[in-house]
Amino acid sequence: MSAQPTVRVDTAELQDDRFSRLRLLPWWRQDVIEAARVLVVGAGALGNEILKNLALLGFRDVLVVDLDCIEASNLSRGVLFRQEDVGQAKANVAARAVRALYPNCRIQGMHANVLQDIGLGVFDWADVIIGGLDNREARLFLNRAAWKLGKPWIDGAIEGLNGVARVFEAGKPACYECTLGEVDWAILNRRMSCNLLTSADEEAGKVATTPHQFRGDRLLRRCRKR
Ligand SMILES: [Zn+2]
Repeated sequence: MSAQPTVRVDTAELQDDRFSRLRLLPWWRQDVIEAARVLVVGAGALGNEILKNLALLGFRDVLVVDLDCIEASNLSRGVLFRQEDVGQAKANVAARAVRALYPNCRIQGMHANVLQDIGLGVFDWADVIIGGLDNREARLFLNRAAWKLGKPWIDGAIEGLNGVARVFEAGKPACYECTLGEVDWAILNRRMSCNLLTSADEEAGKVATTPHQFRGDRLLRRCRKR
């Protein structure tokens, strides 16, 4: 009986194979993806999908920020969360799950409130900022930070069966703030001026938001104010 040939598996080659189908696309740039630094704000239902897709596509430098801990109700909408993760910080659990999906990803989780705990340096680190948020205040904050630092940001929002994704480029109106209508500002002012109402809103359930109306006449005026 002849000896079986030894099969050597080149792990580097396997790693290379992971993206072989994507590289068949003529416009695909795996090198750009591997070099990109991505800040993801929000690790909820939308954040889970964003992070999962970043991992599958081969993004390596990712920072995810979220202030919440996992509740049982998140398990039906978060592919990165497991039953035993309930009670743990969403950002940290999501980062761990992403590393399991793609071991070359150097993702870090930050259990923090983007409005209070994150400085501009974090935004400056990123090449692109992606928001998977459920409120206007955080979107407004992201928009202003991205504008100041000249970074593009992508806003994702889901509401019921509807969803929207928008890209905002710094220095190129319209920015997110330009797209806010009267209803948005009324809600923002109420939330920012009265803590009791804010708590009541949160207790009633955080509702993902989309802009109610687009006011083209305000575009340049608002952007130029900054
Ligand atoms: Zn603007």
